[in-house]
Amino acid sequence: MDKPRYLAAQRAGLLPRRSFLIASASLAAAAVWADRSLGLLRQAPKFKSNPFTLGVASGDPTPSGAILWTRLAPDPLNGGGMPDEAIEVSWQVAEDDQMRKVVAQGVTVASPAWAHSVHVELTGLKPARPYWYQFKAGSETSPIGRTQTTPAADAAPRSFKFAFASCNNYEDGLFTAFEHMLREELDLVVHLGDYIYEGGQKEKSVRKHNSKEIKTLEEYRNRFALYKSDPALQAVHAAFPWIVTWDDHEFDNNCAGANSEEKNVNREDFLIRRAAAYKAYYEHMPIPRLALPSGPDMKLYRRLGYGNLAEFSVLDTRQYRTKQPCGDGNKPPCEDCYDPAATLLGAEQERWLLDGLSRSTAKWNVLAQQVMMARVDRKPGEIVNYSMDQWPGYETNRRRILRQLVERKIANPVVLTGDIHTNWVNDLQVDFDGADPKTVATEFVGTSISSGGDGKETRPDTAGVLADNPFVKFYNAERGYVSCEVTPEHWRSDYRVVEYVTRPGAPRVTRASFVVESGKAGAQKVSG
Ligand code: FE
Ligand code: CA
Repeated sequence: MDKPRYLAAQRAGLLPRRSFLIASASLAAAAVWADRSLGLLRQAPKFKSNPFTLGVASGDPTPSGAILWTRLAPDPLNGGGMPDEAIEVSWQVAEDDQMRKVVAQGVTVASPAWAHSVHVELTGLKPARPYWYQFKAGSETSPIGRTQTTPAADAAPRSFKFAFASCNNYEDGLFTAFEHMLREELDLVVHLGDYIYEGGQKEKSVRKHNSKEIKTLEEYRNRFALYKSDPALQAVHAAFPWIVTWDDHEFDNNCAGANSEEKNVNREDFLIRRAAAYKAYYEHMPIPRLALPSGPDMKLYRRLGYGNLAEFSVLDTRQYRTKQPCGDGNKPPCEDCYDPAATLLGAEQERWLLDGLSRSTAKWNVLAQQVMMARVDRKPGEIVNYSMDQWPGYETNRRRILRQLVERKIANPVVLTGDIHTNWVNDLQVDFDGADPKTVATEFVGTSISSGGDGKETRPDTAGVLADNPFVKFYNAERGYVSCEVTPEHWRSDYRVVEYVTRPGAPRVTRASFVVESGKAGAQKVSG
């Protein structure tokens, strides 16, 4: 049932008082959110203060629309501060930043069952152009956000600019890198995970987390609210559409499927916690209804395009993976790394990925994902150490996917990675032990926005890592993000860094730039 009809039916008393979202969600599982009375739908609520404290956001742009997001939370750090009732929220989309030429509008419901979050799935707009949007509840209005539709699927854009980032630990540093991102002219922002960190308060930190390690729905919501209270993060959300995926810290460090990194964690308890984490994630991100969580399950992997220029396969390497082999950590590879049943994507997502890539007609095929794919030896010298949490821990799986890229003749595969708080540029090979080291894809690993605190241009192990891994073209341990320009002929990645995050005002430095030529896998340094 569409929203106006639903509201009319509800007003007429024809429907039970359940929210639109709840009605369309699967109600299976998890006690954390199954049963909440919504109360009456409040059409003209009065707020003690403006409820749009967490800003606005848009995401998953298409040629005809995008997801618009906001959340009503006058007291964001203490559960939101909203009454336990559903609230009517109206929205408008305009062709100008003053909201004068309105081209779409509607009414939706912010329900207490979903932390009074709002997700609007826009369609019917024109391709490849900016739009502005605003929400209203009662007499309160939200900030105006800007979004942008993508070119039509068969359009041939001359260029496409986006930035990708990951790992914004609130305690470790300021989000200065986001301030710089705001000043770029971007069509899109891609976030590869660790948008929040679940940990408690560190002894020494730039800013404080608002609780001990988060485990309940209430705690995850308050933590998201803390992160989203950052003005730079809010501003980047309001300026560009985002494509987001998660890594481990949105839930729990180094989680692998239903396995915790800690011993003696009850599986059921862990899944109840996951249901809380995933639900809070949905409530705070501009993601489509397709991702609506069902208890501890939430389908986040999906595909988005930019004309015929680029197609993003947005992956989830956490929810479906098998447990890290060899007891996790950095280790010499053990037998389990070569277990053909070991998987980072799960069978269904892997099939979906490869089928989609086979069908893709895009010039550049992007895997937007979390953990490093290159098999980097992390220990300089004779002993070999691979990260068991990353693709080399799942070596047979890693080779299978890269081999398929070759066999299926996938055009210009580029892997985007986050997770490890360092910058890398890697030429990817199917078999790094092979006699014929052939580059089949290119990997750009982006550093953290703030995780790890102030960074350094080099680390004690830099010379050794570069010497042991000739396919690594760049390795840097500063904070920042990566800005990319994609054309039919080339892909350019500019590594933007800030020299400190423990105090404000770090200037932006472009530490290095790399180019991939269409038809020729592997990165070439052009500056830095
Ligand atoms: Fe991280
Ligand atoms: Ca991570």
